Amino acid sequence: MLIDLHCHSNCSDGSLTPVELVNLAHQSNVEVLSITDHDNVDAYSVLYKTKIPLKIITGIEFSTVWNKIGIHVIGLNIDIQSAGLQSSINSQKVARRERAINISKRLEKHGLIDGYNKIIASTNPAQVGRPDFAKLLISEGIAKDWNQAFKKYLGAGKAGDVKSHWLSFDQVLDCILESGGIPVLAHPLYYKLTNSKLKRLLADFVKQGGIGLEVLNGYQNSDKTQYLCQLCREFGLRISVGSDFHEPDGRKKLGIDTKYFSGMDSVWELL
Ligand SMILES: [Zn+2]
Repeated sequence: MLIDLHCHSNCSDGSLTPVELVNLAHQSNVEVLSITDHDNVDAYSVLYKTKIPLKIITGIEFSTVWNKIGIHVIGLNIDIQSAGLQSSINSQKVARRERAINISKRLEKHGLIDGYNKIIASTNPAQVGRPDFAKLLISEGIAKDWNQAFKKYLGAGKAGDVKSHWLSFDQVLDCILESGGIPVLAHPLYYKLTNSKLKRLLADFVKQGGIGLEVLNGYQNSDKTQYLCQLCREFGLRISVGSDFHEPDGRKKLGIDTKYFSGMDSVWELL
């Protein structure tokens, strides 16, 4: 069976509409899909009105911070109407917007005038991020390419490196649990933590009620997957899998075959 418990629509930084994404998943023989947009569940208000040809699990990918490190936590099977979830989403929206305005102000000194307003003329104001500023820096000729935009203006320690005031790690886990969802730590190897730090993160995640670990995120070397499955056994976590699909560019395909994970405790057994 093919399932996909992590992908993005154009309600965050994906390129397909929720309906296009669902249709592509269906054509790709995916049987269970969760759209996990960054800090919002807007995709579900769109899908609510359409006929769905496969099993949809509600989802969200929250941005948060653990020990000053940016971490993503997925909430699966959440009640999207829950008041707690809605207020968390609002607070993330404010954090994202304030960060974007702050980046914009700081880049004025480097010649990018009124960046935020220029970006929101064509982008969802709730979703403005550093990639939008990179594109603008390039189109205005301030940076010659993507690399330079990050190296000179947006990367770590540069003017556009502004921290967001995301909900705390505990708040995100509480919110997912209180809205009836399953918290899954997304792409654990993406944060480039040492083994001991990763284990501390997992211990904290379990302590706060974490249930799943994403052992497969898109294309990944099988050694990494085995290592993450091992960590699941060590920490009593359930496995989760997802493509982290953003756009049909051929690099990432929707759908992960669950047959490679038979015999392991999984989050999809709970769905
Ligand atoms: Zn993602």
